[in-house]
Amino acid sequence: MQILLVEDELSLSRAIKRILEKHGYVVDAVYDGESAVDYACEASYNLIILDVMLPRLNGFEVIKTLREKNNNAPVLMLTARSAISDKVNGLNSGADDYMTKPFDTEELLARVAALTRRKGEVILNNIKYKDLTLDLNSAVLNCGKESVQLSKKEFEVLKIFLTDPKMIVTTDNIISNVWGADSEATDNNVEVYISFIRKKLKYLGSEVTIKKMQKLGYRLEG
Ligand code: CA
Repeated sequence: MQILLVEDELSLSRAIKRILEKHGYVVDAVYDGESAVDYACEASYNLIILDVMLPRLNGFEVIKTLREKNNNAPVLMLTARSAISDKVNGLNSGADDYMTKPFDTEELLARVAALTRRKGEVILNNIKYKDLTLDLNSAVLNCGKESVQLSKKEFEVLKIFLTDPKMIVTTDNIISNVWGADSEATDNNVEVYISFIRKKLKYLGSEVTIKKMQKLGYRLEG
């Protein structure tokens, strides 16, 4: 877990760094807003702890700049206890959480744990597309009130389509994902499973179908 700490008060910065490192986090400390942007764009941090009042760019400007650059690292803002409007501004400008100073060690660790846990642990239980919902745990395909159990291969093939519904999926892509690149599976195997899936889509009454795109492969339609 890598954390970027942006705090210009040296003693506070050192104290936070020490606490976090003691709990196994890797911490880079910077002391002004411009360095914060530079560091955040260089490395992929699991969390940015960001003071509001900073030299050069302030905390709000740092967040704004990062979000404009499509940097979506979670941000925990540090604000002065009195400055209620900072909290509102902070959350409006794209911070994920805020903490008022002074704070105690446990509060810091709890918030850091919550924010770093969130990233990369998104548990995806199903994929939805049009009138279909594919349950990723049970491999049951739902459409309205109807549902049908998919076989393992049907599930894996359909999942490729639903993950990126606009994409033309080539036969090679399906073979290497479902059967493995070294397998002896052929276009025929793929065709057979596509036809199984088509039958199930029809059975469900779904608006979605799988269309063959000449030599290119297949694509969802509906
Ligand atoms: Ca400050």
